[in-house]
Amino acid sequence: MRALVYHGPGRKAVQEVPDPEITDDGDAIVRVDATTVCGTDLHILNGDVPEVHEGRILGHEAVGTVDETGDGVRRLRPGDRVLVSCISACGTCRYCREGRYGQCTGGGGWVLGHTIDGTQAEYVRVPFADTSTCLIPDGVPDEEMLMLADVLPTGYEVGVLAGGVRPGDVVAVVGAGPVGLSAITGARLFSPSHIVAIDTSGARLQAAGQFGADITIDDSRTDPLAAIKDLTGRLGADVAIEAAGTPATFEMAVQLARPGGRIANIGVHGKAATLHLEREWARDITITTGLVDGSSTPTLMRLVTGGQIDAGRFVTHRFGLAEFDQAYDVFARSAETGALKVVLSR
Ligand SMILES: [Zn+2]
Ligand SMILES: [Zn+2]
Repeated sequence: MRALVYHGPGRKAVQEVPDPEITDDGDAIVRVDATTVCGTDLHILNGDVPEVHEGRILGHEAVGTVDETGDGVRRLRPGDRVLVSCISACGTCRYCREGRYGQCTGGGGWVLGHTIDGTQAEYVRVPFADTSTCLIPDGVPDEEMLMLADVLPTGYEVGVLAGGVRPGDVVAVVGAGPVGLSAITGARLFSPSHIVAIDTSGARLQAAGQFGADITIDDSRTDPLAAIKDLTGRLGADVAIEAAGTPATFEMAVQLARPGGRIANIGVHGKAATLHLEREWARDITITTGLVDGSSTPTLMRLVTGGQIDAGRFVTHRFGLAEFDQAYDVFARSAETGALKVVLSR
């Protein structure tokens, strides 16, 4: 089959590789019908995720059709249409029993396109298939469901829920890429008084406005701290969500939060960021970090099928399943291309 293979920092290739095979009786082989490129894949290519070895098939998001199941798989049958979550779950370890699948110690967690071969391929082996996939309701387009594999639950769980967004809050979202937009989408469900989106890309800020940000700030031109202080009677944001993953954006998010506020880091960081405890120690702030669990996926699926969340508007570019080079190029140049999520499908 054809797959997108990582060959060390800055190097990848679309190439012929062996088809995946069932290696554990809980596995399923899923035919990939649609997949996408994540900002995390760019971090991997940038060398920020060193545990990804050369030769790894990238990708951790897919919608597909079950092709084959191991003898231990109970819930899935060949032909079933499934969402392959970015997080696999053994279902039995302590963290899985607590619904914290991202921290699974039984062989799951974020493994696809990380420590085992991923979804940017014609077929993928999904471990613990019963607990790592969701059956897709009839009538929902592949590309809308694909947004539930990572981007929507990540913004919702690691940004909105971890940040404790409540009605009336002022929510600052630093970084208006797909995950920041997902955090804006999720925050709206809680009726905040203002959502303020901060980015340097005009295209992304325009998207943030369309996704529900009340105020958009280009921080290369306007000081976001002054703007947030003006909006909040000098206090600061109730919740600051970091969705960019650089030292500067993390430090900005901490500054933007009011005393007693919450800072929810979603960004994938490849470098150390400074926590200015000499300024922050007495401000009663709470900082959360996290990897998505996918525990909200059933809820988000109902919100998408019920029309409360428009998942389709994340998709800006569409490609054939073999067109990885084009898709990565358009996604990596998102500031110019306006790409949010790119979808590759059969
Ligand atoms: Zn991802
Ligand atoms: Zn587990």
